Amino acid sequence: MLTSDRMRIVMAASEAVPFSKTGGLADVSTALAKALDALGHDVTIIIPDYRELRLKQQEKLPTVADTGMRFSLSMNGRYVNGGVNWTMLPDTSVKVLMISQPYYFDRPQLYMEAGEGYRDSCERYCFFSRAVLEVCQQMVLRPDIIHCNDWQTGLIPALLHAHHARRPGFENAASVMTLHNMAYQGRFWHLDMHLTAMEWRYFNMRQMEMFGDLNLLKTGIAFADQVTTVSPTYAKEICSPEGGEGLDSLLTYRNGDLVGILNGIDDTVWDPSADPHLPAHYSTAAIKPGKAECKAALQKRVGLPDRPNVPLFGMVSRMSDQKGLDLLADCADRLLFHDIQMVFLGTGDPHFENFLQHLAEHNPGKVAAVIGFDDGLAHQIEAGVDSFLMPSRFEPCGLNQMYSLRYGTLPVVRLVGGLADSVVDVNPATIQDNTATGFVFEEYSSTALAEAVERAVEVYRQPDVWHQLMINGMSIDWSWHTSAMRYADVYRQALERRH
Ligand code: ADP
Repeated sequence: MLTSDRMRIVMAASEAVPFSKTGGLADVSTALAKALDALGHDVTIIIPDYRELRLKQQEKLPTVADTGMRFSLSMNGRYVNGGVNWTMLPDTSVKVLMISQPYYFDRPQLYMEAGEGYRDSCERYCFFSRAVLEVCQQMVLRPDIIHCNDWQTGLIPALLHAHHARRPGFENAASVMTLHNMAYQGRFWHLDMHLTAMEWRYFNMRQMEMFGDLNLLKTGIAFADQVTTVSPTYAKEICSPEGGEGLDSLLTYRNGDLVGILNGIDDTVWDPSADPHLPAHYSTAAIKPGKAECKAALQKRVGLPDRPNVPLFGMVSRMSDQKGLDLLADCADRLLFHDIQMVFLGTGDPHFENFLQHLAEHNPGKVAAVIGFDDGLAHQIEAGVDSFLMPSRFEPCGLNQMYSLRYGTLPVVRLVGGLADSVVDVNPATIQDNTATGFVFEEYSSTALAEAVERAVEVYRQPDVWHQLMINGMSIDWSWHTSAMRYADVYRQALERRH
């Protein structure tokens, strides 16, 4: 790469593996940073220092040290101090800076407590967003691009535009806002404007205000030089009243600057031939006996009978309304009428947690449910099940279907967002040309889901066809390389717009 092509990129996110994770955003921040680093760019990730979480899993993490940098921000009339810790992502040149503010970030969970979001969420992430710019300035990062992710960082493009653009160190900086999920917008009452350090004149319906509230995702969309989202289909969906969650007009207005780029996966972490969480390994060259051993070990671990020839379905998910669990609840009896097994791993909405626990209790030997967050078990489910369920109401990108494909596990998905962009339905034509990779249904109904699962059960009875479908999925390259190149193009466009 020419030195002139090398960009200094700051990736601002509220979570990044292996330091913190509640969902796909954490995987994406780190994997994209690594892929951009591999392309030769200079990448710094900035995340909050959730110290308590970090210490809990310290044996797996690189050593974190104090940079010595201290700063103080005026938050609604009082000064709040912060510090900055740092480390490197192993085997890369990616620097990770962690904004430390124990009162805001040293908490048992990232965003919520007892099922409810922290009441000071706005304050925590206004502080974080402002701190990102403070750190860029004090540590002389001189970013070309500040890549913001989701509402927690939505204030950054606004601050950059309104204040920092004219400050030393930001002369060349452009902002990119990535929308990972429009369902979470960071909406707070109007008086939280005081926390943003933005003038009240920006509190209008084109920029920061929505129905009388402050909306931080809207803020990011309105001010960013470029806007991206995590799949081409979701990019279209969010410009419609059904998918735009109230922001479709703004997104349609910014349509020329909105790009959908399908996430990749970190294929060093998600690799069935070397995954340290698995009891056996396999690849396209030899799926047997590795995958069958993973299935047997999973059945044993979750207390299901060791039945190698019964189709085992799995699901790993945040238990939220988005994920289609209500469809599953409506058709569970119909599905369990068949000779199948199911394993669930997830945590979230107590209503869905109770339903799954109840389902497992009433169907011993057929259904297992593990309520909690367990990264190792998530890997074992991806490898051990035959088919993975993602009947999502909406799905900006979805990572699990790509992990499934890589692990020779056939996904059952609804035709929405990134699921539509990554899974090819099994039918005679796609079987014939070896493009089929999973079972796709369109209508958001329990009948449509049940029919898709039943199609999977039927095809499972044809081992040769099933085997070829596994090979089709496992052969696809989901690495971040291609997506990272597309992001680099978006960064260049953002820089052009800025100048
Ligand atoms: P979302 O970001 O909407 O939660 P994605 O499919 O994009 O959905 O990403 C979810 C990520 O979180 C995947 O890596 C998945 O394995 C992981 N995950 C979700 N719930 C759990 C859980 N209970 N235990 C372990 N990993 C989980």
